[in-house]
Parts: sequence; C-alpha cells; structure tokens
Amino acid sequence: MSDRLPGFSTLAVHAGAQPDPTTGARATPIYQTTSFVFNDADHAASLFGLQAFGNIYTRIGNPTNAVLEERVAALEGGTAALAVASGHAAQVVVLQQLMQPGDEFIAARKLYGGSINQFTHAFKSFGWNVIWADPDDIASFERAVTPRTKAIFIESIANPAGSITDIEAISTVARKAGVPLIVDNTLASPYLIRPIDHGADIVVHSLTKFLGGHGNSLGGIIVDAGTFDWSTGGKYPMLSEPRPEYHGIRLQETFGNFAFAIACRVLGLRDLGPALSPFNAFMILTGIETLPLRMQKHCDNAKAVAEFLAGHPAVASVSYAGLPSDKYNRLARKYAPKGAGAVFTFSLKGGYDAGVNLVSKLQLFSHLANVGDTRSLVIHPASTTHSQLDDAAKVKSGAGPDVVRLSIGIEDKEDLIADLEQALGA
Ligand SMILES: *Cc1c(COP(=O)(O)O)cnc(C)c1O
Repeated sequence: MSDRLPGFSTLAVHAGAQPDPTTGARATPIYQTTSFVFNDADHAASLFGLQAFGNIYTRIGNPTNAVLEERVAALEGGTAALAVASGHAAQVVVLQQLMQPGDEFIAARKLYGGSINQFTHAFKSFGWNVIWADPDDIASFERAVTPRTKAIFIESIANPAGSITDIEAISTVARKAGVPLIVDNTLASPYLIRPIDHGADIVVHSLTKFLGGHGNSLGGIIVDAGTFDWSTGGKYPMLSEPRPEYHGIRLQETFGNFAFAIACRVLGLRDLGPALSPFNAFMILTGIETLPLRMQKHCDNAKAVAEFLAGHPAVASVSYAGLPSDKYNRLARKYAPKGAGAVFTFSLKGGYDAGVNLVSKLQLFSHLANVGDTRSLVIHPASTTHSQLDDAAKVKSGAGPDVVRLSIGIEDKEDLIADLEQALGA
C-alpha cells in the first residue's frame, strides 16, 4: 500500500469496513443481535466502567452501526460519530449534552419544517429555548447571543429553498461567543460540503435522505469535529464535570477530542434510547457506497430542471443556488462548487391554487414529504410541511403560498422536464 490518503469515493466504499474476521464476508454483516457475550467478569466490569471499548447491548452500540459511524466520520473529516434512529433523534441527543433547563440556543430561521416544530414546541417542554436568527443577516446571530446561549444551529444547504448558508461567517460568531456551531448537513451531504472544513464543531444528518439515498430507511448521525474545548467556564457540565453514572470520570479529560461523541453515546443514546436498527445501518451503508455518483447526478439533473423552470411562462421565480442569477450563487460557488444540491423551490404565477394543481398533475414526481430519494419528489410546503406556520412565518422560512418544493432524483432529466412541462401546461 502506498501512503497516499484515500479519496472521497474510496472512503465512501471502504471506510470503517473490513472482511468479517470470522466468516470472510466482504459486505458488512447485519449483526442482528440485542446483546454481546462478555469474555469474563473483569471484561464486563471494564466495559461498563468505560475503561475498555466493546459491545454490550445494541442500544449503546452495534458492530454494523460502528462501520456506518466510522464511514460517515471519515467522509465528514470528524474524529468520531454516533448513529441514531433518525435525524430528529440526532438533534435531541446533541442538544441534551449541551443544554440545561433555561438555556438558549440560536437557530437559523430557514430550517427543515420538522426541526422548526421540534425546536419551538418539543424542546420547550425540556426548558430549552430557541432564539431565531436570519441566516442572510450574520449580525442577527451576534445580537441573539446571551450568557445562556449554549450553541448555534444552522443548515448548510437550507430547507426548503436550497439556499446556501455562510458557514464560516457564522462559525466566527460561535467562536466569539464560546459556543459550538452545529451544522445540519443533510441536504448537502459531505460530497458537496464538509462543514468541519469551514468551522463547524458538530455535524448532524438525517441519514434518511441523500446518505441512505433510496427512500427506504430512517436514520440519523452525529459527527464530532473534535475541535471544541468543553472545559471552559463550566458551561458544559455534561462534558467537564465528574459523571456519577461512570465512577466520577470527566468525559472531556478522559476522551479528549472525541469526548462529545462519547457523551452522545454513553449519556444521550444510553439513557434516551433512540438506537438505530442494524438492518437500517446496513441499508444506509449500502447507499453511501454510491453517494458520489448519485449526488453528482442529483445536482446535474437539478440544474437542468431549474434552468427549464426559469424559462417557463407559468413560473414566477426559481430559487436554485446553482443558477448564475440566484442570490446565493456566490455562496454556492464557494461552499458547493460541485453542485448546489437537488432540493429547491420555485413559485407559480397562479399562487396557492396553481401550486396545489401542479402537484396533482405531476405523474413521474411523487407527491410526498421526503427529500433525497433516487426518485424525484414534489411537495407544496404551505399546505403540508410548513402548514403549521402563520403566513408571515411561511414567507420568512421560504414556504410562501405560491411555492412548490422539488427534490430531484436520478432519473433521465429529459423525462423529468417532460413531466413538469405537461403539468404546467395542463
Ligand atoms: C428530514 C430532515 C431532518 C429530520 O430527519 P428524520 O430522519 O426525518 O428524523 C432534519 N433535517 C433535515 C434538513 C431534514 O431534511
């Protein structure tokens, strides 16, 4: 073997995986077991005391999931990762390590609709307060910082309009405030953007979308960049203070630059319980092997469809950062030079009714609430994913009444354009 570092496509196929040591199986086996036999009593005690790494029980870790964790950590350039049951579970587990009741975190207003709900309603009952900021106005993040701020949360490519967030500028705000920057990298995937290279301290994903890529398995993952010092000022007691459930060890002191991933596993996943099924880990690993091929096709198709829509008389505007005329094109060139993703919105001259009508006339596009499938998808956010917001909030989050969101798949682009053409014309 030469000592060159493997490239992204090689890591997507190989990182974390080896032929199975007992059977020689080349694909990663599905370790469909709840629990693992200890060598002896001492081994069991050292596993429970965090003195040795190893398998205990699938809620805390599983060998199939471990391959997925190592692979995504490698693709994102992090020190370690933790796979969980869904993207939303990843968000809960991350914030549980950072927040005490009464604490605040700042979140970009342009987010996945489910995240807006989770932050606004579910987290309120934990005593975690979200403060909204505008990703197009960096100063709004600075103004939102208070002594109770514990984190900043953004999406790299933001729902629903596929706008590009200036990660470096917001990471500077986070650094100054002494809090970690969490980036939801779901819509970009590490093939398009690696947020850690731009100053992110924690990356989260819904693996359900482009990483799994086939619309068949839910999953989520947390990647620790290893960049944040959790010991400063007693702000993060879960990481810096002695843990009574583990004989008083301090996670930051013991685990250094992967302490956050450990905290998520041994405090978050162990006690909250949203474990990823090994079967789903296997499905998602298989998806990741073709991530670079799929993602490029998704982006190339999306650009062709966006260009077609921009020239159509029934279309009022197209929001796709890959178009040279788009407001976010400068940021797209900087952060996502290979392509601006495959999720974007456009608005129809006919308003709300035209949006609903288009969705019902499309045949190849599936009308459903998901993104990042091999299949092309369509949704009218104002009547579905963002329907819980009032009209002003809908417009602010890019989901006004005339807006339609597409997630472009890997079919032939000519077929996608023909389907849109018949639905727009009819
Ligand atoms: C889907 C999605 C989530 C939530 O993930 P689930 O796997 O559905 O829980 C979070 N963020 C973004 C950007 C998403 O698209």
